[in-house]
Amino acid sequence: MPVGTQATVKGMTPDQLRSLSVEILLCNSYHLMLRPGHAAVGRLGGLHHFMGWDRPILTDSGGYQVFSLSALREIGDDGVEFRCHLDGSTHFLSPEGAIDIQRALGSDIMMALDDCLGFPAEHSAALASMKRSMSWAGRCHAHFQKVADDRQALFGIVQGGVYTDLRRESAERLVNLGFPGYAIGGLAVGEPNAAMYEVIEKVEPFLPDDRPRYLMGVGTPTDLIECVALGVDMFDCVMPTRHARNGSLFTRDGRIVIKHAQYKEDPGPIDSTCGCPVCQTYSRAYLRHLFMANEILSSVLNTIHNLYFYLDTMRRIRQFIEFHTYDELLTEFRRRSSSAMEE
Ligand SMILES: [Zn+2]
Repeated sequence: MPVGTQATVKGMTPDQLRSLSVEILLCNSYHLMLRPGHAAVGRLGGLHHFMGWDRPILTDSGGYQVFSLSALREIGDDGVEFRCHLDGSTHFLSPEGAIDIQRALGSDIMMALDDCLGFPAEHSAALASMKRSMSWAGRCHAHFQKVADDRQALFGIVQGGVYTDLRRESAERLVNLGFPGYAIGGLAVGEPNAAMYEVIEKVEPFLPDDRPRYLMGVGTPTDLIECVALGVDMFDCVMPTRHARNGSLFTRDGRIVIKHAQYKEDPGPIDSTCGCPVCQTYSRAYLRHLFMANEILSSVLNTIHNLYFYLDTMRRIRQFIEFHTYDELLTEFRRRSSSAMEE
């Protein structure tokens, strides 16, 4: 899922996203509840109509941004009171409120409110945070049953830091409640990659095989390949779009930084194996020029390429799974990423 924080994937029109075969977007409830306001979006026909996007949208609960962006005032059992990062106004986000906000936005998949634990965290802190998240998940689930219809789905989020026993308890409690999909949250917050992979490997057997597993906020192309091997189905990450705007472009041999002088007169495409419209038309030299001249088109073209690269990686993953040759893809990626790191 490309990330459309403010009801837009930065620099992309919905038509461009559709032409890249984007199937689903993520939008951030935190930003939209504060500006323009979820009620306003609801009155304007909901998020799909508001932003002109007719395919699925997943919204997060707002919790993650409350914990990472705003000046926190107080977390209690009932929810979290916080100060808006834009104007300093005070707001309260409860589990029920998070559902109501996502109802107003009209997303197809909404997420339960969870308590976001930092890294590193002691076992006792991770336990308390997981328990609060599970209590909130129960309240979100109950409120959702009351107010939602079958056009929207609510996913639960497994928490518990890097502790296997806590992750297992969290997964079991969510499965008991019964959700149509399960997210693994609280990863990619600074822990080593090996720890992240280990948590996924340990928690995955406790999640139902016939429900999607969604790894939140991850990651690099290598993470996608490795985590699908561990049983993950869905991802969201700002990496392809944010890196694009910073001139960092993904290729099968690792990332290139387009502003580097070596590309000044390079007539070749970003990646000669890439089928995206940018690689069919423009040279590295032109893309470097746009970046150096601070042209808007630089962000647009770089984003098209990076999103295509990510979506194409997922297409290849699906293809290799269908042909029962996933191990080959995994081996190829591990070889390429280790040689890219040596360069
Ligand atoms: Zn390309």
